[in-house]
Amino acid sequence: MSNFSNVSRRRFVKLAAASSGAVLLKGCLGNPPDTTATTAATVGSAALPAANVGTGETPEVTTIKLGFIPIVESAPLVIAKEKGFFDRYGMTGVEVSKQANWASARDNVVIGSAGGGIDGGQWQMPMPHLITEGIITNGNKVPMYVLAQLNTQGNGIAISGMNRQKGMGLKINDPEYVKGFERNQGRKFKAAHTFPNVNQDFWIRYWFASSGVDPDSDIDLLAVPPAETVQGMRTGTMDAFSTGDPWPYRIVADDIGFMSILTHQMWKFHPEEYLALRADWVDQNPKATKALLKAVMEAQQWCDDPANRQELVQICSGRNYFNVPSEVLTAPYEGKYALGDGKPEVNDFKAGPLYWKDDIGSVSYPYKSHDLWFLTETMRWNFHNGAIQDFDMARNLIDRVNREDLWLEAAKEAGFAAADIPTSTSRGIETFFDGVTFDPENPEAYLASLKIKRA
Ligand code: CA
Repeated sequence: MSNFSNVSRRRFVKLAAASSGAVLLKGCLGNPPDTTATTAATVGSAALPAANVGTGETPEVTTIKLGFIPIVESAPLVIAKEKGFFDRYGMTGVEVSKQANWASARDNVVIGSAGGGIDGGQWQMPMPHLITEGIITNGNKVPMYVLAQLNTQGNGIAISGMNRQKGMGLKINDPEYVKGFERNQGRKFKAAHTFPNVNQDFWIRYWFASSGVDPDSDIDLLAVPPAETVQGMRTGTMDAFSTGDPWPYRIVADDIGFMSILTHQMWKFHPEEYLALRADWVDQNPKATKALLKAVMEAQQWCDDPANRQELVQICSGRNYFNVPSEVLTAPYEGKYALGDGKPEVNDFKAGPLYWKDDIGSVSYPYKSHDLWFLTETMRWNFHNGAIQDFDMARNLIDRVNREDLWLEAAKEAGFAAADIPTSTSRGIETFFDGVTFDPENPEAYLASLKIKRA
């Protein structure tokens, strides 16, 4: 039940508007007053000089423009800026630029910062691979490098209130309830994500298909701005929303609906969003790239210290970043999720967004095996008219885009703990909540094991 006042509801509407992409904020946000000179000294190994940390190399440039979307995934970029980690590694002119939506981020990276766009930033997967191949940029190929994963988990599938008590949990107990919607309600069961053919589309497709509901034919599944989706959930014209924190918290707290599943329940420690830059920027500025990486990695370590989470919430909720009441971020950052619809609450720090390490590997290191899952899923659903044709093409593309080698160099130069540095580009066999496994050595077997697919 809601424990939120009308004031909270009004704030929520504001949050919805801020996330809807209705307002173009590109490049004109500015940043908060620069407090980094004083904060840097308070973080980590304070004895280090402000620049030339690690191998003592001076970066080729000190500026870059990084796009972010105001959701928990972007926290390492925000924290690296606000806590002075970029400055410490000599990147004193990093601009962290709020993007109106994913399409804007994509368009801005094609333009590049020289043209008023961005050099890279935060991405859902496999956007960097698709942009590299021109698949989602009208054939305009802009090679990109994936440099680090920003976070894991922190997403989920929300169901509107009108579908309460229908057995919509990890599994859909009665798939015929969903499939029979058109017959019984006069319209198909309607589900939304914020951008097609990337993470949140994959999560909801996987969940539906696991219960025998075909996301292409049994329901309507489409990209809709969050504000419109949430309004539709209130008024009974939208049934499901595949979304990230803090939406799962708000939808339950404001009594709009409930959570059928959190993504950490679907795939524990699953890959989520990534840091990727234009390849030309990286090739021209290899030292600056590693300086950025070291700063982001240090920010990720800072983010994962439970003692820092309250400050993280204060910083990220700020006007120039997520622009939400801080209380909507507190619960997810404590791993506390009320699911609603009679489901037990989740209360586990490791169920929420994680940034540096989890129980089975590195969060920050970009495993090639995870890129392969995203491209396998792209093939599964025949996205982009089959533009990713086979596993040879997928692996070739991953080898061009994934620069885990730069991550390793940066981590070693920065002197991060050897135990935190992976020794394989594969995290190994992945297991999903329904018992399906993905062996990166044999993605063909995974694809063959799936009942609902287009490939
Ligand atoms: Ca996400």
